Amino acid sequence: MNGQASRSVIVTGASTGIGWAVAQVLTQRGFHVFGSVRKAADAERLTAAFGPAVTPLIFDVTDEAAVRAAAGQVETALDGRPLAGLVNNAGIAVAGPLLHLPIDEWRRQLEVNLTGVVIATQAFAPLVGARKPVAGPPGRIVNIGSVGGRNANPFMAPYCTSKFGLEGLSESLRRELLPFGVDVVVIAPGAVATPIWDKADETDTSAYADTVYGPALERLRAYMLSIGKSGLPAERIGEAVHTALTVARPKVRYTITPQPMQMLMADLLPKRT
Ligand code: NDP
Repeated sequence: MNGQASRSVIVTGASTGIGWAVAQVLTQRGFHVFGSVRKAADAERLTAAFGPAVTPLIFDVTDEAAVRAAAGQVETALDGRPLAGLVNNAGIAVAGPLLHLPIDEWRRQLEVNLTGVVIATQAFAPLVGARKPVAGPPGRIVNIGSVGGRNANPFMAPYCTSKFGLEGLSESLRRELLPFGVDVVVIAPGAVATPIWDKADETDTSAYADTVYGPALERLRAYMLSIGKSGLPAERIGEAVHTALTVARPKVRYTITPQPMQMLMADLLPKRT
């Protein structure tokens, strides 16, 4: 960690997409990043790209024991110094018409995007902020929400529910932690060009093929794949995270160029006759 140890940040889901870009922007600005990944190969890629500026941590956010073990590793590395922040970024997007959605897919969505945030926060938040008097702004928890957590889209009930829930979780937590000098901020991006959209191709839509939603979901899949290429650059979110971590009085809710996605997605639906 060298001389940057006084400004260390945890970023979950740093293997790719927004998490990787956040690590890139923060290390360029002198932060040390503990970046979470799930695979050893991704840990090696982080080290190859960033060197000692990023320390990989290997855990799945839904695995409480693994996350707590990683927090112990971070605490040892910090040697009593506070973390400047925790960026809860790891997430997945489950899409599909709710009435046909396998309940395990619903559970998987909430487990990663909500319970995973709670697990990471319980493990790492005690390390955030000035446990000992330090110079600089107090600690921050930055949660990556979504415009889909402020305006819901059809076919995205699981994802939108998780991100609406994240807003409530963040607001409640903010009130719990502010007295201790830790602020909780939500950054809600519109569509960002990351691999998350490519995963639309992996979604099994066979359960819906014979429903009224079959053709609409094929259009949704094509739409999502196109967004993956035309969305905002992920570095924009990295910049917003840097601002949220460093300004004296951060906005509680940032929105990054909301696209009128609800309207576009509504066009995918069968028309009412
Ligand atoms: P990507 O799919 O590109 O990256 C997701 C990251 O989360 C990966 O590092 C992935 O790790 C990690 N992850 C997924 N599940 C888990 C888990 N169970 N435990 C630990 N890590 C996990 O997505 P984005 O970069 O696009 O998304 C990052 C965040 O931004 C998400 O919360 C997403 O909802 C949000 N967001 C994205 C938008 C977009 O348009 N891209 C718009 C608005 C919000 P692995 O590589 O191992 O799968």
